[in-house]
Amino acid sequence: MIKPKRTIVAESRRPAKADPLPRAPAAPQPLVGAQFVTGAAQASQLPPPGVPEIAFAGRSNAGKSSAINALAARTRLAFASRTPGRTQQINLFALRGGALVVDLPGYGYAAVAKDVKRGWQDFLWDYLTTRPTLAALVLLVDARHGLKPPDRDVLGEFVPSGRPVLVLATKADKLNTTEQRAAEAGIKAEIERMFPLGAANVAVQLFSATTRRGVTEANAAIAAWVPDAPAP
Ligand code: GDP
Repeated sequence: MIKPKRTIVAESRRPAKADPLPRAPAAPQPLVGAQFVTGAAQASQLPPPGVPEIAFAGRSNAGKSSAINALAARTRLAFASRTPGRTQQINLFALRGGALVVDLPGYGYAAVAKDVKRGWQDFLWDYLTTRPTLAALVLLVDARHGLKPPDRDVLGEFVPSGRPVLVLATKADKLNTTEQRAAEAGIKAEIERMFPLGAANVAVQLFSATTRRGVTEANAAIAAWVPDAPAP
């Protein structure tokens, strides 16, 4: 008698290898690793227009240097200085993705002599209004004070061009929650009044270099404007 062949089908008891959990993409930090390229004290010292540029502008003391440093996770990227001669130049930094960050001198520096100041405002203004590679603007505004006339001038020139603007309402840590909400809503409402058609291109973000409030959001907004960079 021929024994029927027994086929033993062993069921594997080993659990299937679990798929690795999809890793959340790292939050972008486009300014991390930025390298100083050059400083320009006059238009002729600017590099020829090339890659896209993102300008940081604001009134003196608005918190621009602190914000740039917070975004770059550095202590000395923006050459924060109390000496007018050192802050009165346009400083350019290359991002890892190739774009440039342009740190504009704070406007309304009371300590600068009138004629020098006039020249400076002209240089700043020319850069903001005529630079063909200027792709986007980060405008620093002290959350406690809101938009001031020179900020409105800059926005008035920039927003109708359709290029995006990120307004960082700085030093938010100096306000309580109710005041923060009011500050943000006040800036937004004013921008909507000024630019019924262009307001969609202007984002307003509460920001604090001290507490790092708004750093992630600002990084995400800036990252959307610049070419992809390798992770820092
Ligand atoms: P800039 O002239 O626009 O570059 O302004 P700075 O970054 O030099 O800041 C001006 C002053 O505001 C300095 O005394 C900073 O320490 C202070 N400051 C800047 N950012 C903040 C912030 O987020 N919170 C607080 N409490 N102070 C800040």
